[in-house]
Amino acid sequence: MNNSKNVPFYLFGKGVLSGLALLIELKRKDREDYCIFFIDRFFERSEISASLPIGEQDLVFFVSTEVEPTTTNVNSIYDTVLARKGNIPRAVVGMGGGCTLDTAKAISNMLTNGGKAEDYQGWDLVRVPGVYKIGIPTISGTGAESSRTCVLTNQAKNLKLGMNSEHTIYDQLLLDPVLPVTVPRDQYFYTGLDTYIHCIESLRGSYRHAIGDAFSNEALSLSRDVFGSEDMQSAENLEKLMVASYLGGCAIANSYVGVVHPLSAGLSTVLKVHHGLANCFVMNVMEEFYPEETEEFHHFMRKQAVELPAGITAGLGDEGFERLYESTIIHEKPLTNALGADYRSILTKSKATEIFKRI
Ligand code: NAD
Ligand code: ZN
Repeated sequence: MNNSKNVPFYLFGKGVLSGLALLIELKRKDREDYCIFFIDRFFERSEISASLPIGEQDLVFFVSTEVEPTTTNVNSIYDTVLARKGNIPRAVVGMGGGCTLDTAKAISNMLTNGGKAEDYQGWDLVRVPGVYKIGIPTISGTGAESSRTCVLTNQAKNLKLGMNSEHTIYDQLLLDPVLPVTVPRDQYFYTGLDTYIHCIESLRGSYRHAIGDAFSNEALSLSRDVFGSEDMQSAENLEKLMVASYLGGCAIANSYVGVVHPLSAGLSTVLKVHHGLANCFVMNVMEEFYPEETEEFHHFMRKQAVELPAGITAGLGDEGFERLYESTIIHEKPLTNALGADYRSILTKSKATEIFKRI
């Protein structure tokens, strides 16, 4: 049964971050009660993190985004929490981009389900609800704030796959469109385009859902406003992109991505290219699979004067391309969504290699 769930509570608007104190206070019952904060390292020593309601008993992890979340890293954070505390926290807070939001989601699931992060990579493997969690996105695009997954790279298995579960959805969001104001221009574009790409992949796929389509269409329309405008980072556009990202995350719960994300996951797994940039690398050469959208993507790049670094696959030999192909073709659900059950005969090894070489 395909039963849909979205984030139950959210606050939206400039300054809603200040609501965090009350939300946390409502959860603390005893003096020993503690919370865990995962905060993007960008905010370390910032006024914003100094203003957060962090108590002496709380645990704070400033999350580095140099490497995207891995199962190894999540297991190690989980072990640290177990070593330092004998009880479960009252709340887990994730504040940052997709990396930080996903780390918080994964730890929340681990704290009540135990075991290893890799045990839950896949669909509906998380047995019981995680610890109450609050998400605060500080960069818009991934939809990690509203989606039902948290994406982890499993190096041993050469696999990038999330804990796809209704239990992974945040219990509460604080959507404060002031927070992304400091995001560097290129990063804003790369991550922001994730929403656009999620939505065009869903809408071009065969697993359609009327409500998912409605979320996608609205998120697409907002993304077009933002990236087709003169200043993608105006105050109005910061707000629009935050809404688009939220809606895009809701859409993806009812559908699947397509050809771009599997190829992008290959680049992330093998070459450690970050998600937003990897998506843009792939979208840039998708004429065969998404012709109109590729043209529109080129228009956004020109309009916003954003360029992509060149030659990322230049030094790769046959073995490298083989690994890229293997970590792409493993994504059966999105590829079936986009290309049908016979996807292996369409996205063949030589076709994938040709695409990767053009990147
Ligand atoms: P990210 O979390 O790495 O953030 C991008 C960069 O922006 C980082 O350097 C970060 O420090 C910086 N940053 C964030 N907020 C900032 C701010 N306000 N000011 C200045 N700098 C700021 O990247 P991302 O693109 O947001 O997320 C990518 C991750 O999300 C990947 O791991 C990807 O797999 C995952 N993802 C998850 C989902 C999901 O549904 N859970 C969907 C898509 C992608
Ligand atoms: Zn994505």
